[in-house]
Amino acid sequence: MGTVTVVGSYVVDLMSRTPHMPKVGETVLGGPFRMGPGGKGGNQAVAAARQGSQVTMVTKVGKDDFGVIARQNFKRENIDTSYVLVDNVESTGAALIAVDNNGDNMIVVALGACGKLSAEDVAQTEEAIKNSSIVLVQLETNIEAVQKTAEITKRHNIPLILNPAPYQEFPREILKAVAYITPNETEATLLTGVKVTDEGSALQAAKVMYELGVPNVIITLGEKGCYYYNGGEKGILYQGFKVQAVDTTGAGDAFNGGLAHALAEGKNLEEAIKYANAVAALSVTKVGTAPAMPSKQEVADFLK
Ligand code: ADP
Repeated sequence: MGTVTVVGSYVVDLMSRTPHMPKVGETVLGGPFRMGPGGKGGNQAVAAARQGSQVTMVTKVGKDDFGVIARQNFKRENIDTSYVLVDNVESTGAALIAVDNNGDNMIVVALGACGKLSAEDVAQTEEAIKNSSIVLVQLETNIEAVQKTAEITKRHNIPLILNPAPYQEFPREILKAVAYITPNETEATLLTGVKVTDEGSALQAAKVMYELGVPNVIITLGEKGCYYYNGGEKGILYQGFKVQAVDTTGAGDAFNGGLAHALAEGKNLEEAIKYANAVAALSVTKVGTAPAMPSKQEVADFLK
């Protein structure tokens, strides 16, 4: 069994339908209300764990009920919570999501405790990182935590996947420690300055990331699948699977969790990318993020 360590965010998703988006100062009677686990780190951890990887989650929650629920959720998914740290001051992070009758949404993410994950916190997890087959990190926490993760993986020669989402500026030096980078079109554009819209522009952007030191660049392209580049003239487009999409939020998280699992299990990169495309395609056929992640059996049946 492969071991995956995920360093990143956990927030509780608090979702309400609303007949219309409230204007400034307005209170709208909405509902129904749904609460569930969220945050890119947590979602990706669940995606990998449901495929059968042994997953350790590194994040921070508050000293509150949401923090207790977070731990219970991770345990239910067989995720190791030894490094789900508790911040004594900040609350557990929360995403306040309103969805109107057109399906449009407005979201405020308060990172809370997981935004306080520090370099010292990550340094405590060196043992877990050292014993991982692969490590997965996003940009939804402190950059110093990302930086420390990169430093430790590099020291122990553990492959690191950087999902640069949501995009925020970070020292380019980090990229020298990254084995796989997995931006979507928007993130690839923000990272490289090359507007990514198709295969041709994906190649140009991929070349920039490759030149910055990442040997394997994987740009996800929504329903089109993803574009893989590892040097040379051109990359390869791996077609997405055709499915009936009902909710594409969390597709990138499913892709990253699936990719980490497949690589940790020892699949070669081509097989791992196809596997990630399958996990992500199945995730968009269900509503929600973490709860929509498919099981190992569902992926096996899908790929038959
Ligand atoms: P993000 O969710 O981060 O914006 P993308 O939209 O690029 O990322 O989607 C990530 C991956 O999810 C894609 O590479 C693809 O494998 C899968 N995917 C996304 N949307 C669909 C879809 N409509 N049908 C099938 N697969 C999809």
